[in-house]
Amino acid sequence: MRPSSDVLLVVDVQYDFMPGGALAVPYGDEVIAPINRLAKGFSHVVLTQDWHPANHASFAVNHPGSHPFSRAHMPYGEQVLWPAHCVQGTRGAELHEGLSIPHARMMIRKGHHPNVDSYSAFVEADRKTPTGLTGYLRETGVKRVFVCGLATDFCVAWSALDALACGFQSFVVEDASRPIDLDGSLEAAWLQFIDMGIERLEVEEVLGAAMV
Ligand SMILES: [Zn+2]
Repeated sequence: MRPSSDVLLVVDVQYDFMPGGALAVPYGDEVIAPINRLAKGFSHVVLTQDWHPANHASFAVNHPGSHPFSRAHMPYGEQVLWPAHCVQGTRGAELHEGLSIPHARMMIRKGHHPNVDSYSAFVEADRKTPTGLTGYLRETGVKRVFVCGLATDFCVAWSALDALACGFQSFVVEDASRPIDLDGSLEAAWLQFIDMGIERLEVEEVLGAAMV
């Protein structure tokens, strides 16, 4: 069991990101078994939940004439316009029932401000508004953040990069994550990880004795 200074950050394992969901990540359901296995090795687990109001600015439907997966300019920069997903209180926003992490300590809901998206579990897309996670992790003595979930090239990537930017050592658990891969976004994410020194790990490496 890893010490409390190592946190497992489980990103957005929600129905709308599963096959058949409003913003399906291919093979998204394949993360559940490896995440459950991984979580058994961590005493400290934090979950995230994408949690949008229906009028959220990241939804194409809220930009008349726009199509899902096109891009729009927001005051904070470019934003991919998504199909409406993870609307607060809907079934699609619920965490997948197959996720079995009863010892998870904390859940961060992100994307709840109507005019700002938040891929990252740490800082919203305006790159200014904190979610509070940094403070929580610092106060609980966390040093290393292991990120997994959906999707590798968006919410997992931004969370891993921000974990590093917020002063933690950061790792991405590749086989406990799945990508959307929109216009080369997966390759771009991996290149950024290499550039920033974020290590790609497999579940067995994290659980194994080699990774102390
Ligand atoms: Zn979202």
